[in-house]
Amino acid sequence: MTAAVPTTAPAQGTEEIQDAGHVDVLIVGAGVSGIGAAYHLRDQFPDRTFVVLDAQDDRGGTWWTHRYPGVRSDSDLFTYGYRFKPWRGPSIAAGGEILAYLDEVIDEYGLDQYIRYQHRVTAAGWSTEDRRWTVEVTRGDTGQRLRFTTGFLWMCQGYYNHAMPYRPEWNGMDRFQGLVVHPQRWPEDLDLAGKRVVVIGSGATAATLIPAIAEKAQHVTMLQRSPTYFFAPPTKHELAVQLEPLDLPDEWMHEIMRRQYVSQQQTLARMSFEAPDELHAFLIESMRPLLPEGFDIDRHFTPRYRPWQQRIAVVPDGDLFAALREGKASVVTDTIDTFTEHGIKVGSGEEIPADIVVTATGFNLSVFGDVAFTVDGEPVDFTQHLTWRGVMISGLPNMAYTFGYFRHSWTLRVDLVSDLVGRLLTSMQDKGATMVVPTLRPQDKDMQLRPWSDPENFNSGYVMRSQHIMFKQGDREPWTHMLEHDEEREILPKADLDDGTLAYR
Ligand SMILES: Cc1cc2nc3c(=O)[nH]c(=O)nc-3n(C[C@H](O)[C@H](O)[C@H](O)COP(=O)(O)OP(=O)(O)OC[C@H]3O[C@@H](n4cnc5c(N)ncnc54)[C@H](O)[C@@H]3O)c2cc1C
Repeated sequence: MTAAVPTTAPAQGTEEIQDAGHVDVLIVGAGVSGIGAAYHLRDQFPDRTFVVLDAQDDRGGTWWTHRYPGVRSDSDLFTYGYRFKPWRGPSIAAGGEILAYLDEVIDEYGLDQYIRYQHRVTAAGWSTEDRRWTVEVTRGDTGQRLRFTTGFLWMCQGYYNHAMPYRPEWNGMDRFQGLVVHPQRWPEDLDLAGKRVVVIGSGATAATLIPAIAEKAQHVTMLQRSPTYFFAPPTKHELAVQLEPLDLPDEWMHEIMRRQYVSQQQTLARMSFEAPDELHAFLIESMRPLLPEGFDIDRHFTPRYRPWQQRIAVVPDGDLFAALREGKASVVTDTIDTFTEHGIKVGSGEEIPADIVVTATGFNLSVFGDVAFTVDGEPVDFTQHLTWRGVMISGLPNMAYTFGYFRHSWTLRVDLVSDLVGRLLTSMQDKGATMVVPTLRPQDKDMQLRPWSDPENFNSGYVMRSQHIMFKQGDREPWTHMLEHDEEREILPKADLDDGTLAYR
């Protein structure tokens, strides 16, 4: 039976922490991953009790946190959407449209009753004796502290700190007379009319924000230290245009377009490994005709890394380039020397005037939502642990996590991981086990350990800044992660849950 979790009276002797009850599964995070996990759990195990806890005051995770003008997906929504819920719009969607899609999922599958907002998980302690996690929560609205217990913890917390964005400190910031804003905390009433705006950064956020504000602002300058790869596909895929007159059922359209995009993403990802120079040339040359006459493409739009070592920023229908052509936006590639009273002085000595500075400088990575983990009273230092297939962590019993792809749509992996977690719960049930923990086999003990993210493979700033606090991977399956989707969609559904790397008790 599925059940809502009641908040009961305080347990004796713990006045300030209230006992919030026990659930079979506790999901942390109500973003794309947590909502997907909740759908699959309810679908596969209708009799199990569960709850979804999120620190924020609404659903959507990333799409709730990021509400700056123009916020949208980079991925197509046929693959960014779940496999069980057809996407009906154009391929690229605005943040609000993604939230509306998630709302439909929540409504259609009755997930609302399981989600508790303003519940920040601060600590999780496993007890082998009791075969359960004790999860401590602080409510954002009341400050009240709660204690849940659960047999299985499913971490869907995303990869960055939602409350604290990454913003470097630059010289002279204190004397700047204008306003500094971060896209993660966009003021709803920010008036851009007639303002000179400098956007620091050139990733996906800058690329989506600039065309959206260029209409209102007097001028927008994209100030970047180094260039990013851009790709300008049409908002509507030509295959979708061709299929439209056939009036196909939504499910067919979703499936056909998913296959098309998976294949396209795979080709690009493979090419980035096998023919990086060709892909580099393709990306640069496809931008050239969209840029203003005489634009210095080598300086501003020719990255120094291999394509896909960092995310390729999508500019649907080339809207960023249109803003450059129309003179509403411009690009400066240089280092920041200092903020001045009225702008930013860069390495060349030029001063860029600014009324508003937007720091599109990215995230602070967070390890499992900054939850303090213990196992039988011992604090968990994740740097000493290994991933098991990018789904569990060595030495942590009854805990799975959902982490999506960087190079493909995140959500493709949400469905795959949910299937695997479902198989794992069934396997425990079949064995009569109350505990499962990834454990190194004797032949794995001298395995060569690798960093969480191999810099040769993926080296975005937020990943590199945080390598030292992340768990590791090994040199062989199942101790690896960050495989490509075409490999994983074969491997994960067939993964052997009795290969000796999972200890059941
Ligand atoms: C602007 C932007 C655009 C993006 N576009 C794309 C794209 O087009 N394609 C793509 O594949 N990826 C994209 N991404 C990556 C994106 O983060 C993932 O696609 C996806 O949204 C992650 O979902 P999630 O549910 O795993 O995590 P999140 O969206 O980060 O949500 C996690 C939730 O968990 C909650 N949480 C965390 N810790 C705790 C805690 N301790 N206690 C309680 N709750 C907690 C948070 O409050 C949050 O609501 C984008 C990211 C950004 C910032």
